Amino acid sequence: MDKHEGNVIPQALQQHLQQLGQQFAERLRQELPQLAQQAGQLLDAAGNERQRLLQALRDQLHRLAGSAGTFGFVQLGQQARELEQQAERWLERLQRQQQGLGEFVAALQQLGSQPLAATAVGEAPRPTRKAVRSDDGSRYIYILEEEAAAGESMRLTLNNFGYRAEHFNSIAGLDAALQQHLPDALIVDVNLPGESCSGLDYAAHLQQRLDAPLPLLVLTQQDDFATQLQAVRAGALGFFAKPVDIPQLESRLERCFAQQHGEPYRVLIVDDDQDLASRYSLVLRGAGMLVEVLREPAQIFAHLRDFNPEVVLLDVNMPDCTGPELAQIIRCNDDWLRIPIIYLSAETDIAKQMSALIKAGDDFVTKPISDNALVATVFSRAQRARLLSNALARDSLTGLLKHGDIKEQVAIELERALRSGDRASVAMLDIDHFKRVNDSHGHAAGDNVIRALANLLRQRLRRIDSLGRYGGEEFLAVLPDCPPEQARLILDEIRQRFAELRFIAEGGEFSCTLSAGIAGTDVHSDAEQLRERADKALYAAKHGGRNQVRLAE
Ligand code: GH3
Ligand code: MG
Ligand code: MG
Repeated sequence: MDKHEGNVIPQALQQHLQQLGQQFAERLRQELPQLAQQAGQLLDAAGNERQRLLQALRDQLHRLAGSAGTFGFVQLGQQARELEQQAERWLERLQRQQQGLGEFVAALQQLGSQPLAATAVGEAPRPTRKAVRSDDGSRYIYILEEEAAAGESMRLTLNNFGYRAEHFNSIAGLDAALQQHLPDALIVDVNLPGESCSGLDYAAHLQQRLDAPLPLLVLTQQDDFATQLQAVRAGALGFFAKPVDIPQLESRLERCFAQQHGEPYRVLIVDDDQDLASRYSLVLRGAGMLVEVLREPAQIFAHLRDFNPEVVLLDVNMPDCTGPELAQIIRCNDDWLRIPIIYLSAETDIAKQMSALIKAGDDFVTKPISDNALVATVFSRAQRARLLSNALARDSLTGLLKHGDIKEQVAIELERALRSGDRASVAMLDIDHFKRVNDSHGHAAGDNVIRALANLLRQRLRRIDSLGRYGGEEFLAVLPDCPPEQARLILDEIRQRFAELRFIAEGGEFSCTLSAGIAGTDVHSDAEQLRERADKALYAAKHGGRNQVRLAE
């Protein structure tokens, strides 16, 4: 399921939130009179008993302060917070003086017997931009470029990568197309001498007309700070000096889309207050995230392992193990270093927040937090965590799986294929005469070719296929449920597209070819043998004159 689908059921979400709110109000109806009654006992109790009662009251007020506001009982939440702080002070003073306690008790009793009136707090989370994808899954890219030759070459190259690129040489033409269909990204040249405004002015106005901003890439001759600033203000995600290095531009597009349409973020909530946890989880789910709630801190590692969250939301005050303690336990384990930990707490005491952060943890949000603020905090942390963990786990030049991981994938798919009876294929690809590219055009140009092939493969292969950089300019692809004859057609198409790509470098324009070998799964070979058979077929393709795809014998 597209993660954005889960997003757009505001009515159902609203109903659900309302239900939770009612449950919470029901709980209050029981809890508040109890609170008032316990407060009454304070006056009669003495010594240790009084202290115990007061501590229990403080804890209860603390929970109330954190949760009431979130469910719309804003005033009640604030009162509870003030009383909690008073309770704290009373605890400190208890041994020394008892004056004024009666007043405090009366205030508690008043809180416990007041009529309930909820007001709406926060707004429903704002839906994120819905994907505009055509039926065949390809992505539309619109290019606004007055120079016909530059625009056309960009269009052709992006089409080679598998995008549906369209080129417009005037604002009027682009505007007409936008009426029909919103693209997935827009590429705009800053300089439009034939128009009355610059490409950036146009893009900025366009973004304002849209419900959600379009991913925007900007092309320019002036690579100066002022233009970059203006571009960022218009929502630009990339900035390219002309003549444009198109494979690099394509890489950036791919990164934008990966962020936009990736898997939903996984969030683990640890909170002993079930109502609050349910509410947070509902709000985050409404924003398209996957959420698990853990009420038992002792189960933390099992949950981390099974669910593999990208963010942990941690309540600070829990009865058996506090948030900071749990955070320290997590941080003692190297496997979970990369997970951001955000404390959720009613704590308004800055010193306590700081000491929690110093022990472990990355951020603090104070209850009650508005739904949008919660979504934004979690989203930004999750996004950054995923970016970093991808950067660590994946090959830095191509963003593909590294050698070991793609080899493992071969074994996994072989096993699956043998179980299901469907044939899978393994393909080894290698760029032809790549040494010459490096020698004639430099190592950086060579890097661009590698990246271009990676992007082309990503675009052309299916989502279920796995793809890795096996070595320098060698790639390994695993195609589940795809017999070798079919894999050959797919790879031959990729071979042709790759040969059509034009690269720009110091030594002038150039192009490259590739060779590939394919082997299909069978019951006789293990993963290593399967890969070796594909490698042998690749060797045969090289010997047969390169620029071709061969099937294993
Ligand atoms: P063949 O058609 O037989 O494959 O010829 P080839 O020149 O591609 O042969 P070979 O595989 O021996 O050469 C690969 C070259 O790729 C050697 C190495 O310098 C270069 N290379 C490996 N990794 C990288 C990289 O990350 N970036 C760049 N620019 N070059 C790389
Ligand atoms: Mg080679
Ligand atoms: Mg090689």
